[in-house]
Amino acid sequence: MNRVERTVWRDGEFVPWDNANVHILAQSLQRGSLAFDFMSVHQAQLGVAVFRLEDHVARLFKTCSIMGLPIAYSQAELVEGCAETVRRNPGVTSLKISALIPSIEAELVPRNPRVGVFICAYDYESDILGIEEPAGSHRETVSLKVEREIVNRRPDIIPPQAKMAANYTSAMFAKWRAREEGFDEIVLLDGDGAIAEAPTSNIFLVNAEGLATPPEDKVLHGITRASVIELADALGIACHATDLAVDDLRSAREVFLTSTSVGVWPVVRIDGRPVSSGSTGPVTSRLKDALAEISRGTDPKFEHWLHYVSD
Ligand code: PMP
Repeated sequence: MNRVERTVWRDGEFVPWDNANVHILAQSLQRGSLAFDFMSVHQAQLGVAVFRLEDHVARLFKTCSIMGLPIAYSQAELVEGCAETVRRNPGVTSLKISALIPSIEAELVPRNPRVGVFICAYDYESDILGIEEPAGSHRETVSLKVEREIVNRRPDIIPPQAKMAANYTSAMFAKWRAREEGFDEIVLLDGDGAIAEAPTSNIFLVNAEGLATPPEDKVLHGITRASVIELADALGIACHATDLAVDDLRSAREVFLTSTSVGVWPVVRIDGRPVSSGSTGPVTSRLKDALAEISRGTDPKFEHWLHYVSD
């Protein structure tokens, strides 16, 4: 694997990648009390830009506020920290901000609740996978399994709107099992058996009325989800946030997932059966292409979604 020559923002200072560490007994590592957010970085028409940076930082603050994690920075400080981290790390495509309790604690409630913040910028393929010539880090289309054993994030435990590390544990193990069965991804249901979301993405379907996606009280408020809803409106495609059953997914004309890392990701099989003809549908393609264009900075209507970091 490559040696990663990146520099990481740690509480306002830059440290080498290899020094961006916490102790094994750090409270957040032991208890899952780490809040985070994940952004994409693009080489756009006018320079290097982070997609909807302010919205992602605002979501991190929402996570901290839902959980009661006492973050001591302002949103403006962290927006600037993110921009500076990207400036100092040329060629990155991803940006991850983590807020955690780094102190060594033995009890559940920390004696030292100081929240430390780390901002890492990297390219997944060259820095993490160690691949020199990127080949695309995920498949073009998804084979989805409807997960029936593990229920989605419960509001009475950790609300789905909080992007907390501990909220990913059960979905991670469920997806791992599904991978072993040959699926790419799972979709989780809520306690009533309605569609909620995938472990790290939101879900949409296309039916005769247009687009439909599960309502906000059931899911993480994905920035890509919000972008697709706004984009659909601009393209004259109706979109409803509404409860959806597994049968609605099965009978949909098209299904796709959305997230920062995959953009718009076409689902072509569900539980082994093809969705419609089993290939990417026209509405999915249109939204995928439109979002890609916005990320390149070539759609003036949505240029405000790009936060340019160049001086
Ligand atoms: N749901 C969950 C649970 C997620 O972790 C993510 C990834 N952040 C998403 C949805 C998609 O959110 P976004 O479009 O902001 O990446």
